[in-house]
Amino acid sequence: AFNANVAAAQQALNAFIVPTPEKAIEAAQAVDAARAAGKPLGKMAGVPIGMKDLFATRGIQTTAASHILEGFKPEYESTVSQKLWDAGAGMLGKLNLDQFAMGSSNETSYFGNVISPWRRNDGGNAALAPGGSSGGSSAAVAARLAPAATGTDTGGSIRQPAAFTGISGIKPTYGRCSRWGVVAFASSLDQAGPMARDVRDCAIMLEAMAGFDPKDSTSLDLPVPAWEAGLSGDLKGKKVGIPREYRLDGMDEEVAKSWDQGIAWLKDAGAEIVEISLPHTKYALPTYYIIAPAEASSNLARYDGVRYGLRDLPDGAGLQDMYAATRAAGFGPEVKRRILIGTYVLSAGFYDAYYTQAQKVRALISRDFKEAWAHCDVILAPTTPSASFALGEKSADPLEMYLNDVFSVPASLAGLPAMSVPAGLNSEGLPLGLQIIGKPFDEQGVLNAGLAIE
Ligand code: GLN
Repeated sequence: AFNANVAAAQQALNAFIVPTPEKAIEAAQAVDAARAAGKPLGKMAGVPIGMKDLFATRGIQTTAASHILEGFKPEYESTVSQKLWDAGAGMLGKLNLDQFAMGSSNETSYFGNVISPWRRNDGGNAALAPGGSSGGSSAAVAARLAPAATGTDTGGSIRQPAAFTGISGIKPTYGRCSRWGVVAFASSLDQAGPMARDVRDCAIMLEAMAGFDPKDSTSLDLPVPAWEAGLSGDLKGKKVGIPREYRLDGMDEEVAKSWDQGIAWLKDAGAEIVEISLPHTKYALPTYYIIAPAEASSNLARYDGVRYGLRDLPDGAGLQDMYAATRAAGFGPEVKRRILIGTYVLSAGFYDAYYTQAQKVRALISRDFKEAWAHCDVILAPTTPSASFALGEKSADPLEMYLNDVFSVPASLAGLPAMSVPAGLNSEGLPLGLQIIGKPFDEQGVLNAGLAIE
């Protein structure tokens, strides 16, 4: 049934770049054989999942949704995908995303927009954004093409698409999941995580994905807790912080209402609600949009027409011409914009004014959270400033698009675990998400608060 669904909905949603149903069948058969032989089964035994096309998969095209990587078949498997296969999961296909994970609507993919399975309740049929950058993942899970999918989150790319499509997704503490074999965007922020129908599925899948990896120098050398076994919707004795600065002037009324509803649900689960302050919140977005492009411009220097995918070698051209032609043809406009911003803020004359300054502000944002943990165990906030929007509505204005990330980037800059869980529909019939941010390494606290909301 999954195969038929993948084929039909692929037409409508464009969630997959490359479907690989034969891989999912192979995994299911291996699980059957293991079961027949009385062998122990893994946490994800037989579960067919979608793999964001940012994870290197051996022998299977891995593109980051960019023309520059078209045709690239890695010789190696990412640590996270390998762990999922070792746990018994099978791959339904490589999922579409924003090019190099840069975007909030899945409109920057070289392989076309992903379309959300959701529609407004106004009787119209406007195609809506599934969120980004993990838009193929969110659309596939929301449309029930896959019970779960991998995502990556640099500044919100798991949480925002989860919120837009009414599913759950968690970005663990920075370092929980290995970045080895994940196409790099901004290395000090990038973190993989699960996107699934509910909190329990996220807990199960995260257990399979997480763990120390000597091949990633920023990998956390900590045991993986039994998050699923630790799930409890009882929040007695827990304090939930409500950050004053997230209540923006002119905040969407329905978003504010859903936040209040979330507060009420957590109270019902026994939590105590406390107001907290994160005074540097308003600097998080500009800080992120300096640091992320800076790191991206450096990471993307490797796409030179020699080592991977595309090579554009004009007649009689030299090496420099080949670099220029390959990069001009291979990168999309948003990727080029980030490279230009990144090289600008890292250039000799501007480094201190932008990059150094952004690093200092990043430290202040982290300190805000550290001080908040003296007063609360988790933080509750909206995931996004609005519900999903129509494709094309924001793509002409990059700043308008970047504003989507206002609630998700602070936890990214501080490396904290953060989750989005569905919190009902707005008056247009579209999902809204609520975000739970936790202390470093306290995915359990985040998952438990999420369970109390869903
Ligand atoms: N929307 C943000 C950006 O475009 C975050 C992307 C991400 O988390 N990968 O950078």
